[in-house]
Amino acid sequence: MTKILIIEDEEAIAELEKDYLEISDFQVTIERDGKQGLKTALSEDFALIILDLMLPGMDGYEICKEIRNQKNIPIIMVSAKKDDIDKIRGLGLGADDYMTKPFSPSELVARVKAHLSRYERLIGSTQKQNDIVEIRGIKIDKTARRVYVNGEEKIFTTKEFDLLTFLAENPNHVFKKEELFREIWDMDSIGDIATVTVHIKKIREKIEVDTSKPQYIETIWGVGYRFRV
Ligand code: CA
Repeated sequence: MTKILIIEDEEAIAELEKDYLEISDFQVTIERDGKQGLKTALSEDFALIILDLMLPGMDGYEICKEIRNQKNIPIIMVSAKKDDIDKIRGLGLGADDYMTKPFSPSELVARVKAHLSRYERLIGSTQKQNDIVEIRGIKIDKTARRVYVNGEEKIFTTKEFDLLTFLAENPNHVFKKEELFREIWDMDSIGDIATVTVHIKKIREKIEVDTSKPQYIETIWGVGYRFRV
């Protein structure tokens, strides 16, 4: 459930806002004191904050500035005076929206929803997609370095992961054990091509249903291995 914080000292207004937001399936917390409001805002994970300007303890200007230093979630500031809006704008506190009391609660809910979806789009567009290799039932998340076989995560060591990824990214290509060893282990590594055989065996145990009849990594006798598509 999306969590919203209301910092508002007028109980009737806070409760009215809360009722309307709860009808729209938001989870609402109310703080009536400025200092406590700021503390709650910074310590919990809210999706959006509705912030009154005149508050006991600490005013909305200061609270907005402090929240902005740490979080970029949407902040809607509310005030009883129209003149305050110009002041809020002029101070460049980083509030996303301003409303003058009295306002209709449904207008507030509409703005809350608009800011949340805008914020989510913003976050979504900056989030990088993971680099994923997917072949039949095998999904290799190169970014997270995780392997899933038919949806179930399997734990791979670093070299097992590198070897599987290399083969899967070069399907239908037969690699000699020497080539694979050179590719995955650096030249100074202790070990020899038998290391490759051992690792292939371990990988098969994790990805194959029947290791005696491999469906993914085939052995090409006398040559090496091939990842079959
Ligand atoms: Ca107030």
